[in-house]
Amino acid sequence: MANIESIADNTNNEFERVYPTQPIPEGQVLWFPFQGQRLMLKVGDQDAAILQGDQTLLDNIKHEEILYIGRYRGQPCLASALDPEASLPGDWKAVGLRELYNLMPGSEYNIATYASQLINWYQTSRYCPVCGSPMVPVDGGWGRSCVKGHYTGYPAVVPAIIILIHDGKRVLMAHKAGWGKRYGLIAGFVEPGETLEECVRREVKEEAGIEIEDLEYRCSQPWPFPSQLMIGFMARYKSGTVHPQDNELDDVHWFSPDTLPELPPPSSLAYMLISSWLQQYGNQQ
Ligand SMILES: [Zn+2]
Repeated sequence: MANIESIADNTNNEFERVYPTQPIPEGQVLWFPFQGQRLMLKVGDQDAAILQGDQTLLDNIKHEEILYIGRYRGQPCLASALDPEASLPGDWKAVGLRELYNLMPGSEYNIATYASQLINWYQTSRYCPVCGSPMVPVDGGWGRSCVKGHYTGYPAVVPAIIILIHDGKRVLMAHKAGWGKRYGLIAGFVEPGETLEECVRREVKEEAGIEIEDLEYRCSQPWPFPSQLMIGFMARYKSGTVHPQDNELDDVHWFSPDTLPELPPPSSLAYMLISSWLQQYGNQQ
């Protein structure tokens, strides 16, 4: 079962980041070509693998500039965005990031999500938001600057908190319209001028109407849809009656370990926080 400890151990120390404008080394490379939000993989009999080849692999396919993003186990990793209309070799398959999680090791999946965010950044930062002039790369990082010097931007990382609240025996879970039978944890975006702790208490107040104590940071996870960083906390219920204060959720209530609803997907931080809580408190009824 995936858990907090497994994401904490899943730091990608076999991947070394590279920044512009390092030249791409000669020879074999690993390709991360995206068509929209979907990564191209080579389909084998049983599985799907990252495309390997040299720098000429995409020569006959219409695509945008190549980003040299890093080295994985010593091999250069290149990302590119393919033309949405480009026809592709028959043995390639386009796979969405959510499906990709189940198809490749975590270390490779993490590179793919990084690549997708850089591609997304390049596609959304072509023009200066002040004057509309072209933006050009900044040396030594992924930033881009207006050619007239108005503005420099960097790839967005959008912080969002997610919080598991428990009372020692039960866990508080929330439901949104459209989620079917699945329940999740209380979560929300950090607002300007807010600390993570303030954000947690505000979201808990808005979405559940209760007070918490023993707030503790647990773990974080990049969530590339398109560029969130999920920051996971755990806290203990302190006081108040569960009563959602806004319309975002249609149900919030307590579940004991033996009455849990359908959980979020195993790739999510919500799932890992819940399984970590179960390991700690699941037998204390
Ligand atoms: Zn400008």
